[in-house]
Amino acid sequence: MADDKKTVLVISAHAADFVWRAGGAIALYADRGYRVRIVCLSFGERGESERLWKIPGMTVEKVKEDRCTESTRAAQILGAEIRFFDMGDYPIVPKEEDTVELVNEFRLNKPVIVLTHSFEDPYNMDHPLANDLTLKARVYAQASGYPAKGKGSQDDAPPVFIFEPHQPEQCNFKPQVLLDITPAWERKLEAMKSMAAQEHLVRYYTGLGERRGVQAVRNSGKRHIKYAEAFQRIYPQVTNELA
Ligand SMILES: [Zn+2]
Repeated sequence: MADDKKTVLVISAHAADFVWRAGGAIALYADRGYRVRIVCLSFGERGESERLWKIPGMTVEKVKEDRCTESTRAAQILGAEIRFFDMGDYPIVPKEEDTVELVNEFRLNKPVIVLTHSFEDPYNMDHPLANDLTLKARVYAQASGYPAKGKGSQDDAPPVFIFEPHQPEQCNFKPQVLLDITPAWERKLEAMKSMAAQEHLVRYYTGLGERRGVQAVRNSGKRHIKYAEAFQRIYPQVTNELA
């Protein structure tokens, strides 16, 4: 571990997913002094790199390199560190050692918050697969007998939040948690713009941030909220107050 900061672990199927779906949460927690660690399972070289494949003479290695550079820059803007696996995409195919390494992410970093994809996404099967791998790694990390680094403990049971998919209704996504990202909005916007992605996506996610912000105000009366990101819990919230 780099230091004794609390860690937020973000598991992203492809190199860019984390920016659009959770960039605000990432910047917000980085600002609060958390160590935010992004793990990309794949570069999204086949399925989410249309723009690059239009360039004549493009190769898969060059696509991966470009995606890596772009996402590393976005992570820096958000104040996070980033690690890339190279599991391929369409489909993501994890090797046994990849699963062990993901378990190591949990065992060694002991995240206090985990963010990942939804259980369903009929537009991209890699996204549910990332959800599946995340939950497996979290559970395996708790098991003392699982052969990864460090020690397994059932006390290490971080909450897992699903970040909002691109088409939430089709993914059976429920926006149970609205996180006020107003203080981090400018950095999310900067990270989105740095992606050299289509301008329409920046517009789309700006609109989404505003709508979730309006809903956050409606559900809390906190009128200072301008932008929010929606999340869905997987495990029960443990609390001593019904608030
Ligand atoms: Zn993706």
